[in-house]
Amino acid sequence: MSDARTEELAGALDAVRERIAAACDAAGRPAGDAHLVVVTKYFPAADVQRLADVGVVDIGESRDQEAAAKLAELAPDVRERLRVHFIGQIQSNKARHIAAYADVVQSVDRAKVLAPLARGALERGRVLPVFLQVDLAGDDEGRGGVLPAQLPALADATATTEGLELVGLMAVAPLHVDPAAAFDRLAVLSQRLHEDHPGATLISAGMSGDLEQAVAAGATHLRVGSAILGVRPARR
Ligand SMILES: *Cc1c(COP(=O)(O)O)cnc(C)c1O
Repeated sequence: MSDARTEELAGALDAVRERIAAACDAAGRPAGDAHLVVVTKYFPAADVQRLADVGVVDIGESRDQEAAAKLAELAPDVRERLRVHFIGQIQSNKARHIAAYADVVQSVDRAKVLAPLARGALERGRVLPVFLQVDLAGDDEGRGGVLPAQLPALADATATTEGLELVGLMAVAPLHVDPAAAFDRLAVLSQRLHEDHPGATLISAGMSGDLEQAVAAGATHLRVGSAILGVRPARR
């Protein structure tokens, strides 16, 4: 598929990649050190297809039903080339289903979802990489996340669950807080996690509006939606 929308997406993708490269450069990090996940939530399968056509591999989705339906619309060879990151809140009764299609889950924030995620992964014959989502606001803005004080226990529970692999931390910068300060806090939490869990080295932070601050704080994964796809359609 190559149409005006494909060109629009390719142009926006280039601009975001340039922002990431400049931020890596400014932080003294090698280019390509921060991995781009294109957040396609609320956008149709046709846009995922267009992104795949221009070389995108990592996409992020945040709603179970929407994600599953969208992936089912893609041709199998296109689907196979994608790495799908689930980044939304996980209802425990949906966790097993999410693990049936997600290649990475970034939003684990409580122990209750571990067993069903693991079951879904094992049924699919694979180990599921998971990030723990941290609540940096600590005041329940409704964005989810485990409080920093409860992080070590959740990390231990994740690491000891067969079928899951603890790979790192994810966070969304709280509203009304300097994202640089929030991401620095996340980096400290990541360092501590790393001491107990040497394999958990990844940091998913930074979105369209604050990816530069995230790169400066050491993010390895950036989740960018609107800067590439445009303003999200209203959710139904
Ligand atoms: C929607 C979403 C993003 C992308 O946000 P943009 O501001 O559109 O780049 C990133 N992370 C999470 C968890 C999201 O829900």
